[in-house]
Amino acid sequence: MAITGENARKKRRPKTFSPSLAGHCLRYATMEMLGFGRALDEETRDAMSQGSRRHKAFQAELGARFPMAKAEVALKDDVWGVSGRLDVLLETARGPEIIEYKTVGGDIFDVIQSTGPLVSHWAQLQLYLAVSAIEHGLLVVENRARDGRVWYRGRRDPAWEAWLKERIQRVNQAVATRRLPSREISFRCLSCDRWQRCFPTEEARQHAVEEHPAWEPVPPVPPIRYDHVSHEDEPGAEFLA
Ligand code: SF4
Repeated sequence: MAITGENARKKRRPKTFSPSLAGHCLRYATMEMLGFGRALDEETRDAMSQGSRRHKAFQAELGARFPMAKAEVALKDDVWGVSGRLDVLLETARGPEIIEYKTVGGDIFDVIQSTGPLVSHWAQLQLYLAVSAIEHGLLVVENRARDGRVWYRGRRDPAWEAWLKERIQRVNQAVATRRLPSREISFRCLSCDRWQRCFPTEEARQHAVEEHPAWEPVPPVPPIRYDHVSHEDEPGAEFLA
């Protein structure tokens, strides 16, 4: 008869859903929750550490301007099955406002400037708004390659709330059965750090993406409704209570 000691290896419990997964493909999110490894190259590691430094600098900058700003506010909700941290929570004259901060490379920054926020960034902000039931949010995107920052103001959006609920539910079902969802092939596969779980070779990945470059999740992504905030309108004293 086998005796199981206190230190016997237990089956690893899946992680809770992190808001940073909100705009990802279901297969990727499921892999993250099940603890699959990632293939991080030097460039990605460098971008991550640069992003982390800028993140802290941004939080310090806002903290200096607005003493009531709270950074790294923990957020956990058992009904949503979500846990994470808000970058900054700011009390303003309009009520509490969540600020989500992102850094991107120069090419992506140019795309964002001309076409608006990325789905992945907006999905994360919308998830924070939905879970915390806060009405107002700001997305701040900074260019890692050179100076440049854009701000987008948004409101809690019921269409996004429904989309996020459905997507998280699908991930949770996949995690519960430990079966990876089908691939959601798109241009994003080219920068995915778990692509080897989806394609046998880089050539196969390239070919699949050429055949199907657009990301077409189910259900379809709702429209991103935002107001662009000009540099002069960045949160200032006029917003504060
Ligand atoms: S390679 Fe593509 S389909 Fe596979 S997990 Fe990454 S984004 Fe999803």
